[in-house]
Amino acid sequence: MSLKKTDKIWHNGRLIEWDDANIHVISHVVSYASSVFEGIRCYSTPQGPAIFRLREHMQRLIDSAYIYRMEIPYNLDELCNAAIELVRANGLDACYIRPIVLRGYGDAGVNPFKCPIETYMACWDWGRYLGEEAVRDGVDVGVSSWQRPAPNTIPQMAKAAGNYMNSALIRMEAMMNGYAEGIALDVHGQVTEGSGENLFLVKEGVVVTPPLSSGPLPGITRRTIMALCKDMNIPMSEQIIPREMLYLADELFFAGTAVEITPVKSVDRIKIGKGTRGPITHSLQDEFFALTGGKKADRHGWLSAVRVPEGAGVRGR
Ligand code: PMP
Repeated sequence: MSLKKTDKIWHNGRLIEWDDANIHVISHVVSYASSVFEGIRCYSTPQGPAIFRLREHMQRLIDSAYIYRMEIPYNLDELCNAAIELVRANGLDACYIRPIVLRGYGDAGVNPFKCPIETYMACWDWGRYLGEEAVRDGVDVGVSSWQRPAPNTIPQMAKAAGNYMNSALIRMEAMMNGYAEGIALDVHGQVTEGSGENLFLVKEGVVVTPPLSSGPLPGITRRTIMALCKDMNIPMSEQIIPREMLYLADELFFAGTAVEITPVKSVDRIKIGKGTRGPITHSLQDEFFALTGGKKADRHGWLSAVRVPEGAGVRGR
């Protein structure tokens, strides 16, 4: 097992032992994938560990649950505080935080209303998702033969477990074909995103990403890239992207909490640009890592400190 377990997991308002965070196999979520979740990074900064865009992630968790008529018995502040308490309790510095809201054990049918809502939060040390070199050298990817679901089938704006059956098909196919990751098209054949990250291209100095109507997850890193482009005076637009526009891009990169900003050097074995990390990708990475690592002033209030000095408020929350 490569997962590095920690001491504590937060469950329904209290910290329990990692090994005690178990559910019954007849829980609704096991048969019917009825959970929503988040992936959040806590970075090591000179001021101590800090969670990146915690509020936005917890708001998306609440939104995902709302779409599925799941009532989380904690509000935004309580969820944010729980994440901070958890990282602190585990004594971690940089880590990945995984809140999960699931439908538990109560009834065996599809109707979820008789099953209790359980809220969990775990965190652990998790390095570079696609490997250490990927962030510098880029990755080779392929367009998947699996598409994203059509609108009005499974909501793509919810970060829900069920969506990841589709993501796993895309990812497995990519691995079998020797790629680091797969890109999914939507039901109209237009580009959406990677199996677990948003996708951006650069063409003639403009950064372009598919609109939410193409079905990508409304990524927090996606929003971060948009904000950084604005800050750095890089033109940016949301546009429908036909598959072949990927091949003709000057630069291509993935953006997500796990992959952070990872360049793509080829698609379907067609070289993108020079086949190396492009200059705009590089400058966005530099800015992103300076901000997440606390090396530059937190001008957007994106970092929530885990260790708060006595008497001080928590920034960014
Ligand atoms: N798309 C998918 C399918 C994802 O799973 C993720 C990761 N949550 C993303 C995009 C990126 O979202 P974020 O930047 O909020 O991590």
